[in-house]
Amino acid sequence: MLPVVALVGRPNVGKSTLFNALTRTRDALVADMPGVTRDRHYGVSHLGERPFVVVDTGGLSGSDEGLEGMTAKQVRLAISEADLLVFVVDARDGLLPLDASILNELRRSGKPVIVVVNKTDGVDEVSVMADFAAFGIAETLPMSAAHNRGVDRLVANAMPHLPPDEDEDLIGRPSLEEQGIRVAIVGRPNAGKSTLINRLLGEDRLIVSDVAGTTRDPIRVPLERDGKRFTLIDTAGVRRRARVEEALEKFSVIKTLQSISAAQVTVILIDARENLADQDLTLIGHVIEEGRALVVAVNKWDGLDSYQRDQTMAALGRRLQFADWAKTVFISALHGSGMRELMRAVVRAHASATKEMTSSDLTRTLEKAYEGYQPPLVRGHAPKLRYAHPGGNNPPTIIIHGSRTKHIAPAYRRYLENFFRKRYKMEGTPIRIDFRDGE
Ligand code: GDP
Ligand code: GDP
Repeated sequence: MLPVVALVGRPNVGKSTLFNALTRTRDALVADMPGVTRDRHYGVSHLGERPFVVVDTGGLSGSDEGLEGMTAKQVRLAISEADLLVFVVDARDGLLPLDASILNELRRSGKPVIVVVNKTDGVDEVSVMADFAAFGIAETLPMSAAHNRGVDRLVANAMPHLPPDEDEDLIGRPSLEEQGIRVAIVGRPNAGKSTLINRLLGEDRLIVSDVAGTTRDPIRVPLERDGKRFTLIDTAGVRRRARVEEALEKFSVIKTLQSISAAQVTVILIDARENLADQDLTLIGHVIEEGRALVVAVNKWDGLDSYQRDQTMAALGRRLQFADWAKTVFISALHGSGMRELMRAVVRAHASATKEMTSSDLTRTLEKAYEGYQPPLVRGHAPKLRYAHPGGNNPPTIIIHGSRTKHIAPAYRRYLENFFRKRYKMEGTPIRIDFRDGE
């Protein structure tokens, strides 16, 4: 499972700036937390040897509950979720009493702490760093998040603190092969995730809710259907929500991100009776960015009249244009309709995501695409595309060699994507194209 790194600190020290530098995404997923003045943001960083979840814990505003209360709440949450705490302080403010009390909380957790002294641009770095040495934390790093300085070093320092990835060599855990197609079932609270999983499993297997696991990790549920093996990766529903921190959070973003990361195919469940929320779109955007295959399941299709169905389908068509390659299925988890179609879409998406491609065929297809339509000239010269070879699966990755490829416009990239998608009949998976210049 993806390890979790939390950014903690007062407001305005630069946590969100650092968050953006680490995740390089436009949209963060936001936790649905009552009683917290600033939302926590979640994203995935790929800057290190292995990906990890970044949580921006927001910060205390102090206006609602008083400084102490807010600090304690934020910090406790961060501690409970994280494998590593990154404590961000402001070089320009110097060491403040509030910093010292936050650090005390962090220390008490026994979890590893890295101090990041941000905004060292334009200040006397040596004297500032000496100032913060009073914390007595061995790893105290200078940073200018706004200028992307010190970010790589932070990531390099973070790596050794992250717990080992136990996924593949746990004794007694089925091998990836035995797990079959790994499917994450994600969606907002009440979309019907647990109902769907129970429906797929059949009533006699509801017991699954007591499968052990740490509170944070998603649960894996084996499933066999039509002679095929699957492992459903459940983010929330089936397991009882035991812990206090979990009960607070209606939408466990960390589990959602971890499930998507561990899965090959993501089924995003949408409640047909609710409008498509920004959170749904952000989630879909995240699935695509992570390169996972995607099936959109519109749940609670029962009981809608034909007018409502038409409205829903039209709205989905409009807003999901950016993922129009993904299959949309209409289901009722409660009544069990659409299950066969859903699982068929999962199998097809998986097959597309893991399709074999050969260099010769990719190159031939590239030539055809190039003949049909060439990239627009750049200062009198056309970008050249010479040959292609496969670069991996899930997502299918195509590496194209040529010249001036950095001038290739997004529209042309999409044209190529669609061309390859048609050639290989890929449904339900994003496709990645990497251009490389030179021979
Ligand atoms: P947060 O409240 O801790 O999330 O802080 P933000 O990331 O919102 O940053 C607060 C302010 O500090 C913003 O105006 C940022 O542009 C600025 N800031 C963030 N990082 C740096 C930095 O490295 N150098 C300088 N000079 N300003 C920064
Ligand atoms: P989760 O939070 O995503 O796990 O959602 P649940 O599975 O707990 O479902 C939330 C509510 O929606 C429950 O009351 C379910 O009975 C109901 N529900 C789930 N699927 C359907 C469906 O297909 N049709 C209808 N009408 N209700 C459903």
